[in-house]
Amino acid sequence: MVTNSQQDSESLNTQELDAIYAISRVVTRASELDASLDEIIGIARTVFIFDNVVLYVHQKTDNIEPSYARAIGRGRNSEYDLAWGESIAKDVLTSGKIVVRQEIAGDVSKDRMNARYFLGLPLISGDNNIGALVFVRYGGPQFTPDHTHLAEYIAGHIAQLYEHGFLITRLSLLEAERQLERLQDVFVATVSHELRTPLGFIKGYATTLLREDTNWNEDDRREFLTIIDEETDRLKELIDNLLDSSRLQSGTLRMEFQPLRLDTMLKDLPLRAKSFDERLTLNINLETSDLQVQADPTRLAQVFDNLLSNVVKYAPGSKVNITLSSQDNQAHIAVSDNGPGIPEENLPNIFSRFYQVPNQNRSVRGSGLGLFICRRIINAHEGEITAESNFGEGTTFHIYLPLMNHNSGEA
Ligand code: ADP
Repeated sequence: MVTNSQQDSESLNTQELDAIYAISRVVTRASELDASLDEIIGIARTVFIFDNVVLYVHQKTDNIEPSYARAIGRGRNSEYDLAWGESIAKDVLTSGKIVVRQEIAGDVSKDRMNARYFLGLPLISGDNNIGALVFVRYGGPQFTPDHTHLAEYIAGHIAQLYEHGFLITRLSLLEAERQLERLQDVFVATVSHELRTPLGFIKGYATTLLREDTNWNEDDRREFLTIIDEETDRLKELIDNLLDSSRLQSGTLRMEFQPLRLDTMLKDLPLRAKSFDERLTLNINLETSDLQVQADPTRLAQVFDNLLSNVVKYAPGSKVNITLSSQDNQAHIAVSDNGPGIPEENLPNIFSRFYQVPNQNRSVRGSGLGLFICRRIINAHEGEITAESNFGEGTTFHIYLPLMNHNSGEA
């Protein structure tokens, strides 16, 4: 018994078969759609005569749109190509069948180009008619059943190419959705964990104080209330950080930019530092003065607050050196400590949201949001923040901000 495919292949000559195999190879390794179509059309031209080809794709809106067009032979005119094929593509899509048509636009004996022959083929992917492939020949020859047969192979392969493309797009959309879900899960888990810790303390000490079977002395009561007070501050700080980080992430945190003298701002830091730790000593070195930047003073102060509170948490007892200088139209502020430093392998991650260096002192409480917020704030100022660290020797954060008037203040 002769199967359909045997019959089909018998009706193609060797050159045509070679071309079809070459086309199917393009489909299997298809990467970029237009480049693959160019290749297929190039191969098809070696065994199939046509002057123009247009591929129409069925849109969700029920329209058809030309998605690819090549004018190769006589009558090269892309604009015109698109118009002529549309009515044929519509007929192909409504009938789901091959449409062969000819148009005589003038006296063919004077100009053979007055005769145009069209061949429209449906592009079938699974059960769906995804579009139409329309070939045109100027001045003939007419499309014979043999030609149509060959064109069907080409259309079949192009439909596969589209299906391949759809699948890849669908897969990457699904992957993106899954990735988002995973991120949301991690976010919810991290946030719940972070909120639970201070809440646990508050609940525990409040319940303890409320116990009717025990009379707490004044010192104990004060100690418990102090813990509740500190943990409430911590909870507030966490929620503020979470809000800031999600606003910075979505770009909805409002910044109030104004000209700001960096030396003035840095001179205020020692006083601010005392609010984190009485013992924190800052050594401020202004290599240049009168450097002005466009900045939101509150947000920029928040960056320094974060860096200083990190010194208290991660480099306790360390001195802090802060240097202001300028280079290449930028202000450069370096904040260094001589604490334990950050291991080299962890350094690239410290500005990521929720990242905390593993195995650090258990008594240190953090959320991994501080440096993420710092980087986002500095980026919103069109600046940059980086870190360098020698493990065991200390850490330096470098902040670069574009200067407003970089020539005015060189010391
Ligand atoms: P958190 O908000 O939890 O304090 P950050 O985003 O501010 O976290 O910092 C990320 C990590 O970088 C911290 O887990 C800490 O290990 C490390 N780190 C930050 N600053 C310093 C520093 N000055 N010295 C050593 N390690 C630091």
